[in-house]
Amino acid sequence: MTGGPSAGVRPLATAEVIAVGSELLGSTRLDTNSLFLSEILSSLGIVLRAKAVVGDSRREIAAVLRGALERVDLVILTGGLGPTDDDLTREAVSDVLGVPLVEHADIVEHLTQRFARRGLKMPDVNRRQAQILRGGVVVENPNGTAPGQMFERGHQVILLLPGPPRELKAMMAELARTALAQRSGTERLFRTTLFIVGRGESHVEEIAQPVYSTWLQDTPPIETTILAAPGQIELHLVVRSADASAAERALAEAREQLVAVLGADVFSIDGRSMEEIVGALLLERTLTIAAAESCSGGLMMSRLTDVPGSSAYVAGGVVVYSNELKTTLAGVDPAVMGVHGAVSEPVAMALAEGIRARTGASIGVGITGIAGPTGGTPEKPVGTVCIAVVGREGASAVRTFSLFGTRTMIKFWSAQYAMNMVRRMLLEV
Ligand code: ATP
Ligand code: MG
Repeated sequence: MTGGPSAGVRPLATAEVIAVGSELLGSTRLDTNSLFLSEILSSLGIVLRAKAVVGDSRREIAAVLRGALERVDLVILTGGLGPTDDDLTREAVSDVLGVPLVEHADIVEHLTQRFARRGLKMPDVNRRQAQILRGGVVVENPNGTAPGQMFERGHQVILLLPGPPRELKAMMAELARTALAQRSGTERLFRTTLFIVGRGESHVEEIAQPVYSTWLQDTPPIETTILAAPGQIELHLVVRSADASAAERALAEAREQLVAVLGADVFSIDGRSMEEIVGALLLERTLTIAAAESCSGGLMMSRLTDVPGSSAYVAGGVVVYSNELKTTLAGVDPAVMGVHGAVSEPVAMALAEGIRARTGASIGVGITGIAGPTGGTPEKPVGTVCIAVVGREGASAVRTFSLFGTRTMIKFWSAQYAMNMVRRMLLEV
């Protein structure tokens, strides 16, 4: 990476992204460019303060840009650089900056040749794409017709990039290596995440907050965000520093402090998913796993086998939705179901033991529950899920969970908790 900021100019510290395109306001197209941009800005140590989506309107684009220029050092506009009448980003930026657009003869020439190579005559409308803000710098587009442009105003930078993701990515990656690297500071952002299962968001907050609230006074300060994600609570730690090893040390220490208070409920400290963590534990111990799943419909096995190399430890399993199949495929005694009901701890245990015995796997898992929305009773409401795990030498665990949410969520949580029970058992052996 080329070195720090040019002499005398304040480095770019904050940014805002404006995604232009009326289609992005509808329900069919999503602004994904800003996700890519946030990633690359973060690698440059530039904090993304806000992002906006705005339709193809000269006035609206101008209004949003004016606001952004009051807040941040770097504004990136994507989209609306095409040749047609509804591509208005250039004009809107020109309005706000009070800088005219001038046609660059060499871009016209370049576009003419690009069309000529395909045996086509350049449509006259494409001349619009050769309009560059006076004093702006052209950013070449290796994958399309619309060139980008970069305009500096005092310590601020305004960047115009095309909307097609393939074009934007190539151009932004190049800028991050060159012009933007020179204008950004020497500081970079470093991150780490902790994934937690088995505690709710407010419970995690209650335990973690007294620990992480002190880090804001540290040098360098660590910012912590808590997020509830499907199947897990996430703690995201971010530190900004010019010294990579000091930042990594600070994050490692912070992570240790959190693990010390949250204990084994922290299942991942490196971004790996539950299925990857469980897979790694099985692999290390050269153990295999099998499952008989009812309400989770095979989701635990599906997730475990999402991990490349899982054939080393996944033996297999069965989806036993009907009571008949619980008996014929997993060996559950019909009398046990008669006495306790299909959703019960004894049946979960019988499923786990049955599948383990039939497959010869080291670990057997049984999952049975009511995913809803119907089928609940006062004693066993929707979301009641019984999970059992049996291992070698008689190791076993069985639990009943009361889960909330949609059918899809209950299936996901069932698989998540089952894998977590496997993880907890593996940590003990
Ligand atoms: P050109 O017309 O020269 O290709 P442009 O800058 O005018 O470039 P648009 O017409 O706005 O680009 O968009 C072209 C394509 O890129 C469309 O398919 C659009 O949905 C997609 N696109 C635009 N903006 C985004 C965005 N923010 N995220 C993801 N896709 C986008
Ligand atoms: Mg557009």
